Amino acid sequence: MTQIFDNPAEFADDALDGFVAANRQYVARVDGGVVRSTEMKDGQVALVVGGGSGHYPAFAGLVGAGLAAGSACGNMFASPAAGQIYRVAKAASMNGGVLLSYGNYAGDVLHFGQAQVRLNAEGIETRTVVVTDDIASAPLDQIEKRRGIAGDLTVFKIAGAAAEAGLNLDDVERLAIKTNHRTRSLGVAFDGCTLPGADEALFHVPAGKMALGLGIHGEPGTSEHPMPTASELAELLVTRLLADKPDEAGTEVVVIVNGLGTVKYDELFLLFGRVEKLLTDAGLSIIEPECGELVTSLDMSGLSLTLLWLDEELKEYWGAPADTPAFRKGNATPRAQRSVAAADEAESTELETPTPAAAALGRQAVTAVSAIRDVVMEHEEALGNLDAIAGDGDHGIGMRRGVDAASAAAKQTADLDGGASVLAVLTAAGEAWSEKAGGTSGALWGTAFIAAAAALGNQDSYSSKDAAGAVEAFSNAITTLGKAEPGDKTMVDAILPFRDAFLASIAAGSPVVAAVKAAAVISQDAAAATAKLRPLKGRARPLAEKSLGHPDPGAVSFSLIVERLGQHIENELMESGTRA
Ligand code: ADP
Ligand code: MG
Repeated sequence: MTQIFDNPAEFADDALDGFVAANRQYVARVDGGVVRSTEMKDGQVALVVGGGSGHYPAFAGLVGAGLAAGSACGNMFASPAAGQIYRVAKAASMNGGVLLSYGNYAGDVLHFGQAQVRLNAEGIETRTVVVTDDIASAPLDQIEKRRGIAGDLTVFKIAGAAAEAGLNLDDVERLAIKTNHRTRSLGVAFDGCTLPGADEALFHVPAGKMALGLGIHGEPGTSEHPMPTASELAELLVTRLLADKPDEAGTEVVVIVNGLGTVKYDELFLLFGRVEKLLTDAGLSIIEPECGELVTSLDMSGLSLTLLWLDEELKEYWGAPADTPAFRKGNATPRAQRSVAAADEAESTELETPTPAAAALGRQAVTAVSAIRDVVMEHEEALGNLDAIAGDGDHGIGMRRGVDAASAAAKQTADLDGGASVLAVLTAAGEAWSEKAGGTSGALWGTAFIAAAAALGNQDSYSSKDAAGAVEAFSNAITTLGKAEPGDKTMVDAILPFRDAFLASIAAGSPVVAAVKAAAVISQDAAAATAKLRPLKGRARPLAEKSLGHPDPGAVSFSLIVERLGQHIENELMESGTRA
């Protein structure tokens, strides 16, 4: 039970404020999380970690010298939003690139992925290594589907030490990938955890039983067992982990016995002793182990065992000094404090003065987004029905929520004193879209808007080449984040034909309006043609047969939108013609 809070809805934020106050020599608060408050070297890679709150010391407690440069902190057990991750990464970046690392959960993957697209679009080179250490969550041949639990620590520690040592982004990424490939964890729970303000735990384990293979968000275990003795528990965990060991495994291992919240340290130590004996008997030598609370799950009663099979290189970085609020190792050199721009200052400096051309285009963007809103509203029900055939029926409502928020944000931004550039207007629209829409399509549309905005920028003048650049950025953002291929039966099947036709028309010298209208016709045909495809991505995949004969909802909505956009631009041109 969580006892101490004022407003449970504000728990994560309030706890983070207090954490920063208590650890000011290590961390500073920024909008979306924390970054180091100590000096970092210019050009060093910034490791940015993160995830939901409720896992302390993960993730904010691992920010400091030799480890993470920043942490994006979501609500209790909920992924941080893409905008939060983006702002933390920007504040943490030292011009040496950013490595994003976090546990493999669908929400985190989408939001961190969105932030990555946005950072790259702005010229901050960003890579991602997702942690997949939990052997209970998928078989070894599907290791990329496994969740991340306490193995977060081995990956973060080694990547953070490599970044501190001045290695470049390629090498830091390579070491993080290698560490993840050689890390395995397995957990057990004796009872569930309770979210602040709730009166019941998310789950319970029956008395006298133990759940094997727990998650760290209150996901119950994958199987229940009678409560074992400590020796039996050690035997079970060690046997399962050794059976899953990586091919390249040597004989030196890091061992982490991790408490999930309410198991006493004495119990963890007792178990560690049993584990050590079994590993030593198996011919392994234990290198700089950890035993304590490292990745928790609120007040969950449970623990996990993690093994990392080292090689020389990993051993060096695992052993390197680190000095963070919750994790200290070796003799880290004391660091001077640096000043970190407060969240709201950083926010206001982001809006540079718009050029007259960018402000004019910003105002046109507002009416264009409003036209998109009209067409989505007109087709909201039909899109929902189409999605209901093989998906979950929320495509209409999701697009509606997204575009409503985007339209309001675009208008609000353009109405700021002094106006706003098309960059600012469409970035605000994209952020609002992905934050409010929910669902896959919302995250993709939001990211695509932000990428198109970055391509348009705040320039002195615009030509049809910039329109081509924006369309290309839009399309690349969708394929980079969603990873759908042509033929997977997604919106990509309408977007790529649109992009190709649009770029070809512009290259042939067509004006933008003619290029949009011609490409929209091609996109409509392409969307209709998805009826004969079977979905290979997204929620409709399990119901592939039902979907045959019906077009993909996301492809249809895209083609409707670009068709309306063509009409809208044409009307605007006619109106400005009559005015002139
Ligand atoms: P959800 O699938 O989360 O319910 P929506 O119903 O709003 O979200 O959107 C469904 C549409 O999203 C699909 O029709 C498809 O066009 C698109 N989509 C799903 N997954 C992907 C992906 N990986 N890449 C591109 N588009 C996708
Ligand atoms: Mg849906």
